[in-house]
Amino acid sequence: MAGLASASWALPKAVSAATTAPHVLVIGGGFGGATVAKYLKLWGGNIDVTLIDRDASHYACILSNLVVTGALPMSRIQLGYTNLQTKRGVNFAQGEALSVDPVAREVTVKIGNDYFAYSYDKLVLAPGIEFINPAGNYNATLTPHAWKAGSQTLLLKNQLSAMTKGQTFVMTIPKSPYRCPPGPYERACSVADYLKRKKSGAKIIVLDANASIQAEPVNFGNAFSKTYKGVLTYIPNAAVVSVDSSAKSIVTSQGTFKSAVLNVIPNQRAGQIVTNAGLVNDPTGKWALVNPLSYASTIYPDIHILGDSQGTGQPKSGHMANSQAKVCANAIIRAFNGEAPDPSPVTSSACFSPITATTAAWLTASFQYDPATKAMKRVEASFAEAAQPTSDGMQQMFHWADNIFADSFG
Ligand SMILES: Cc1cc2nc3c(=O)[nH]c(=O)nc-3n(C[C@H](O)[C@H](O)[C@H](O)COP(=O)(O)OP(=O)(O)OC[C@H]3O[C@@H](n4cnc5c(N)ncnc54)[C@H](O)[C@@H]3O)c2cc1C
Repeated sequence: MAGLASASWALPKAVSAATTAPHVLVIGGGFGGATVAKYLKLWGGNIDVTLIDRDASHYACILSNLVVTGALPMSRIQLGYTNLQTKRGVNFAQGEALSVDPVAREVTVKIGNDYFAYSYDKLVLAPGIEFINPAGNYNATLTPHAWKAGSQTLLLKNQLSAMTKGQTFVMTIPKSPYRCPPGPYERACSVADYLKRKKSGAKIIVLDANASIQAEPVNFGNAFSKTYKGVLTYIPNAAVVSVDSSAKSIVTSQGTFKSAVLNVIPNQRAGQIVTNAGLVNDPTGKWALVNPLSYASTIYPDIHILGDSQGTGQPKSGHMANSQAKVCANAIIRAFNGEAPDPSPVTSSACFSPITATTAAWLTASFQYDPATKAMKRVEASFAEAAQPTSDGMQQMFHWADNIFADSFG
């Protein structure tokens, strides 16, 4: 088995579907995995679907910057699996997927202290991202990323609220591509707004590994240079050299910084199970190449990879993971019926970003399959960003989040 140190493990107990219906196993119950599980049941009829996540419920990264600043409680971003089980008929198990055997079509899953071999006809991997830890003595408990929501979100929230007036918050922005292109700039604005209102004299330094703002450059550029003038310093081309989490100090290509709070968001790659399964095969060695008609791996066609782990070049967002999951569910159902996938799928992405405590901006884009390049191509007419942050945008953000939460987990 790929990635399995079999000598150290007890023989896994076999778990097969109880019916003769085709069986789909989904690893990762975030926006991609929850949505594909739901729509396989909704559209597919007689398909047995099992969803596995390491956690009992999912904490959405969407809106999580507002939890960091204390504007929203953690419960606002907690999404359970009960609806998928009771309303949709999805089987759910809490466990850690460790390895994939693509020949035997089995996934080894650790549940409690036991190991189970889950068989599948089709496997969907939607594990999100993994971090590429910086050099030094980087420790995410001391210098939280809060780029996977949950306990990390609370760590950063507590560190931010413990800051005293006049202290500095330093954050890093990873090299593209990373989860949620506008997300780090949104965090910078949310933190700057908080510091301005609650900790006068405190400052934020934003160290961007990229040469420029990666999304919504006008809205974020205006926020950085005007709204948060004197509070926020933006430094591009700041590649991280090393991190000393104990000292809360960071060495970058633009200098060394020491701070009260150090929010290191490391560079990113596909979720570990994708690596363990031997499916990371894009030229950068970080993401999994798939056929965008079905999200089937270009290595093993019965394994589908979607959401942040795939390498089609589409943005890594929850909205996009939800959109890809529907294309994937449709293609799997067609495959069970002996049919080819839809030849011209369309996907879309939307991100809403709070800019101040009362205003938000947004960014949207759709993508269409291009038969000439066999790739998803951005539809230029669909690519837009808010003219400016508004209070209406803030209300739309909450409606949009409620809709994407319900469509994925409801
Ligand atoms: C601050 C912030 C703001 C954001 N704002 C937006 C926004 O406005 N709009 C938007 O569309 N997106 C937004 N995003 C991005 C969005 O959260 C991600 O792109 C999205 O969650 C990706 O979905 P996914 O299904 O690929 O991964 P995830 O949603 O991360 O789900 C992965 C799941 O897999 C599980 N898992 C991983 N490995 C294993 C394993 N081996 N065994 C068992 N379970 C496993 C994890 O526990 C997790 O539940 C934001 C992100 C951040 C950080």
